[in-house]
Amino acid sequence: MPLELVTLPALSDNYTYLLHDSRSGATACIDVPEAQPLLNELSKRGWTLTEIWLTHHHHDHIGGVEDLLNTYDAKVSGAKADRHRLPPLNREVADGDRFEFGGEAIDVLDVSGHTVGHIAFVASESGYAFTADSLMALGCGRLFEGTAAQMWESLQKLAALDPNTLICSGHEYTQANARFAITIDPDNPDLKARIDHINSLRERNEPTVPSKLSEEMATNPFLRADDASVQAHLDMIGAAPVDVFAEIRARKDRF
Ligand code: ZN
Ligand code: FE
Repeated sequence: MPLELVTLPALSDNYTYLLHDSRSGATACIDVPEAQPLLNELSKRGWTLTEIWLTHHHHDHIGGVEDLLNTYDAKVSGAKADRHRLPPLNREVADGDRFEFGGEAIDVLDVSGHTVGHIAFVASESGYAFTADSLMALGCGRLFEGTAAQMWESLQKLAALDPNTLICSGHEYTQANARFAITIDPDNPDLKARIDHINSLRERNEPTVPSKLSEEMATNPFLRADDASVQAHLDMIGAAPVDVFAEIRARKDRF
């Protein structure tokens, strides 16, 4: 049976996630923008938080850890490379590491770019990837510390996952991302259809995440730097995908 996933909005536009194994009772949360939404959901469901997984050091992803630990004695996992700027870690992980959770293997990928040291957690058997501010719905994180080449490499690792993987990203930025995406890929029918769907979800105040990797592959301009029509639109036919990606990222920063 797949692990149970709960998506929770937090702060103004963040997401945090709960992952639960009903047999063992193991429950992890991924990133802690603030404690309250998690505390409420855990008590509502009668779950005991056993683990906290952190993707990167930004305050909107770790700000509620201390509060959460006041209620739950949970084991904290995060990037060894970022231990100096993360809350105290009980499990330090790095690219390629694998650990067990609720009978399932969890893989750690380094997805630097937004920050250097940003990691993603992948539960392949259940089909979830917790990507936070690396790959996002119709977008990718801003390059605060890493280079375009680093982010492109990170996105390629995620693009290689099973196409049915649910991409559990860190923010509700999808409508703004959509307004930009259509300027890069204006003739993409899948993108147009997705934008209609996104708009109707947001009208009902529903989350646009998680999203399916296959959907991102077809519509996310940051994953389509090697696509002929995107390259043609940017006047970059035959350019190296990493350079096309850098151009798209630069345009988004100015957008
Ligand atoms: Zn961030
Ligand atoms: Fe963030």
